[in-house]
Amino acid sequence: MSRPTAAKIKLSSLSHNVTFVKSLAPTAKLMAVIKADAYGHGALAVGRTLEKIVDAFAVASLDEAMELRDSEISIPILILEGVFAPEDLKTCSLNAITTVIHNFTQIDWLEQTQFENVLNCWLKVDTGMSRLGIGTESISSSLERLKNVPHVTDDIVLFTHLACADDLNNKFTIDQLELFDSCTKHLTLARSAANSAGILGWPLSHFDWIRPGYMLYGNSPFQEGSENYSKLEPVMTLVSEIIAIRDVSEGGCVGYGCSWTAKRDSKIATVCVGYGDGYPRQAPNGTPVVINGHRAPLAGRVSMDMITVDVTDIPAGIGDEVILWGDGLSLNEIANRSSTIGYELTARLPKRVPRIICDK
Ligand SMILES: *Cc1c(COP(=O)(O)O)cnc(C)c1O
Repeated sequence: MSRPTAAKIKLSSLSHNVTFVKSLAPTAKLMAVIKADAYGHGALAVGRTLEKIVDAFAVASLDEAMELRDSEISIPILILEGVFAPEDLKTCSLNAITTVIHNFTQIDWLEQTQFENVLNCWLKVDTGMSRLGIGTESISSSLERLKNVPHVTDDIVLFTHLACADDLNNKFTIDQLELFDSCTKHLTLARSAANSAGILGWPLSHFDWIRPGYMLYGNSPFQEGSENYSKLEPVMTLVSEIIAIRDVSEGGCVGYGCSWTAKRDSKIATVCVGYGDGYPRQAPNGTPVVINGHRAPLAGRVSMDMITVDVTDIPAGIGDEVILWGDGLSLNEIANRSSTIGYELTARLPKRVPRIICDK
C-alpha cells in the first residue's frame, strides 16, 4: 500500500464556491484564477470542472496557459505576467491566449512582431501596488499604441490589483479604487480590480470582471468569524494516518531538539506527514490536527516525513485518518499558527503528495 498522505480534492465544493461568488457580484464576468497549478489543487482537474461555469481563466504565464490549451480547454485564458519574450506573442495569438500588457517593453514587442491571428490584451494599470502595470498618466498613450498594432483587438480590458483589500480598515483600497475609476471611467472599456478580498469586502471594486482565486478553493482572505466566511467550502483536505503510538512518561521528551516535554504521562501518535509534504515546519507545539472528529495538538517539532501529536485525551489508533487542514479544520488557522498564509501552504504542496479527486 502506498503512503497514506494525500490532498483530497472535492470538486463539487469548487462549483459551490463559484455559485457563491456569483451571488456576490451577479453582473460581473468571472475570471477564475488557477495559476500555480490552481493554488496547488491541480489546474487540469480544476479547469475541467470550472470551464463550463466561469467566463475565463487566469494563470501566471504562457506555460501554464498552454498546459490548459493542450488539454483542450477552450475558454479564454489570461496570462497575468504577460509574455517574457517577443516570440511568445505569436504563441498567444495562435492559441487564443489573452496577454496582459504591463510595461512599455511589452508594447515595443507588440509593435515589432508579425502576427497572423488576432491577439486580445488586458492593460494593467499600477494604482499604488508598485509591482506590475503602467502608471495612470500613461493609459491614453498606451491604448493609442495598442490600437495601432494590427491584429490587436479593440476590446482591451483595463485592470489593476489591490494591495491591501484584505484589511477592511485600510483606506489605501479606497485610494486605489478612486484613482483607477477616475483615470478610466471616460474610456468605455471593460474594467477589473477585484481579487477575493475585493469581491468579499469591497463591492465598489467589482466593475465588469472579477478575478477570484483563493476563495474559489473555499478559503477566505479574511479571518474566521468575518461575514460570509462560513459560506465557502474547502476544496482541499490534507490527510494522513497514524503509523505509531507510544506512551511517554511524565518528563519524557518528543522529537528533534526535545522541544516538547510531557507534563503528564502521555500517549503520542506519530503521523506520516512532514515538511517534505508541505506541512509547515514552523507549526508550533499545540497546532491542531483532527483525528476521529477530535482536535489534538502537535507535540514536538515537525520532521521532514513525520509529525507527533498528543492523543492522550482522544481515541486514536494505528491506521486512523488524520486531517491536517481542510474539512473541519481551517487552512487559515494552520497558516496563522505557522506565521504564513493559506495561499502559501496549498501552492507549495509538493508533487510527493498525490491529489485525489473525491466527491463523496
Ligand atoms: C493571484 C491574483 C488574483 C487572485 O487573488 P486571490 O487573492 O487569490 O483571489 C487576482 N488578480 C491578480 C492580478 C492576481 O495575481
